[in-house]
Amino acid sequence: MRLTAPPGADWLLRLPMTDALKQVSLIMMLRKHGINDTRVLRAMELVSREEFVDAAFIDQAYEDTALPIACGQTISQPYVVAYMTEKLAVEPDDVVLEIGTGSGYQAAILSHLCRHVYTIERYKELQKKAVRNFDKLDITNVTTIIGDGWLGWPPKAPYDRIIITAAAPEPPQALLDQLKTGGRMLLPLGESRENQFLVQIDKTEKGLEQKELLPVRFVPLVKGRVNPRKQKKN
Ligand code: SAH
Repeated sequence: MRLTAPPGADWLLRLPMTDALKQVSLIMMLRKHGINDTRVLRAMELVSREEFVDAAFIDQAYEDTALPIACGQTISQPYVVAYMTEKLAVEPDDVVLEIGTGSGYQAAILSHLCRHVYTIERYKELQKKAVRNFDKLDITNVTTIIGDGWLGWPPKAPYDRIIITAAAPEPPQALLDQLKTGGRMLLPLGESRENQFLVQIDKTEKGLEQKELLPVRFVPLVKGRVNPRKQKKN
């Protein structure tokens, strides 16, 4: 018998042994906590979280915890990323809109599961870093946009799936309008950080169907763009 690496695991073989073990245990942790969609697990395996965390937190890259990134924002906890990805139920031909690019980790995971991801971020500094990571990982089906996610991105609407990775007090109307009939939106809803629920909204022929999934803690979905003079040039 000839031993070959399973598809998708080749990058693991290039990682230093300790990092590969950490990555594998992260995948096992996700399975243990009920993530069982193999496409989602495979995407989580393909994207090394280490690329997306700040240098100061590199030791915690594979831990199941949210971590600070630039501009006072956070990269989400891997379990929540996997859970949201699973619930989004992305099809290979789907076009997905993400609000809140942050580090780019969630968009990178989605890029392996759908045709194209459009992702909007308020901070230019975060958008630039995310683009550098996508380039480094040869991810070519993610388009980043600097702007206000409350308004969505009308040029490419309607979207099959919309994922919001910052908490809003109510679902943004522009985003509901930009969701296809038959499409799904996931977002954390809640006024305060202590009182948020991940919510799934399905847009059907009959209207919107809303379901609460999980208590979560996300940074707020802020209204409006960042003052251009406060945006870092590089
Ligand atoms: N998906 C990210 C985590 C996002 S944290 C990841 O995988 O790392 C939430 C992000 O939403 C932050 O970067 C924040 O700047 C951004 N954000 C908040 N309000 C926004 C808005 N109105 N439009 C676009 N981005 C917004």
